[in-house]
Amino acid sequence: MFICDTHSDTLFSLGVMKRPLAECCITPQRLLQGGVTLQTFALWSGPKGPHGDYEAVAEAEFAAVQQLTAAGLRQVDAPTEAKEGECAFMLSLEGCEVFHKGLSAVAEWRQRGVRMGALVWNHANRIGTPAKINADDRLTDYGLSVVHEMQRLGVAVDVSHLNEGGFFDLFRRGHVPPMASHSCCRALCDHFRNLTDEQIRMMIQYGGYIGVNFYPVFLSEDGKADSVTIAQHIDHICQLGGAGIVGFGSDFDGIECFPEDVQHPGQMGNLLEALRSYGYSEEAIRGIAGQNLLDYFARIC
Ligand SMILES: [Zn+2]
Repeated sequence: MFICDTHSDTLFSLGVMKRPLAECCITPQRLLQGGVTLQTFALWSGPKGPHGDYEAVAEAEFAAVQQLTAAGLRQVDAPTEAKEGECAFMLSLEGCEVFHKGLSAVAEWRQRGVRMGALVWNHANRIGTPAKINADDRLTDYGLSVVHEMQRLGVAVDVSHLNEGGFFDLFRRGHVPPMASHSCCRALCDHFRNLTDEQIRMMIQYGGYIGVNFYPVFLSEDGKADSVTIAQHIDHICQLGGAGIVGFGSDFDGIECFPEDVQHPGQMGNLLEALRSYGYSEEAIRGIAGQNLLDYFARIC
């Protein structure tokens, strides 16, 4: 099965925290064990975002990419280049502060393999405002020009962490549908990081993509979760009509607690089992596991 995960923070652990790869949540062995075909590794702007040395953070994370390739993982430039049976990876940005210096930076990072970019993390930046700060502010004019440049170059615009004002701006003034690389459902867990049903319906209507986050704090209000809780969020999106736009966005190496039986990518099989126990067909599960992401990139490129 072609299995994708659209978000992890392993490169921050490796490149900035200097944690050995063997001690990260995501390891090549676990990816193989869980049958993950395409793992996305984010270049996060760091805890201080626009107030920190985000260029140096991004460079340290980018330098750590060679640890992944040295360990046998293959970097791909597009999801379709990943082949079932291997474990490939793709790069993304979490917080697009590296685009502050000018629109030419979008092409520079695209050249280095970045195929998705979350416009903001938890700090407001030159592009937009996160859900953590307020719901209403719209994208800045510069932010909108960044969005258009990303779309022109085939870099998916990622709304995870973005506020609702920015989200709806993308549908009003953007050209192609955005994705949410690691977001859950607000209807099941009332957290500002989660998407409302109205947002999910927009994603479905315009052909976006949602990778459901595995962080228990976003999955359930009592902070307890397992593979069935993740399946509930996936099922909620499917119930709204989103069976063709939903998938996995683990957030591994960016979270400090885990669903009971999905603590690392080696346990991905438990999540597939939970979907089967929900009555999903093998074809539907293949869609959720990976085909939906391939279809999304075909729509936006
Ligand atoms: Zn995040």
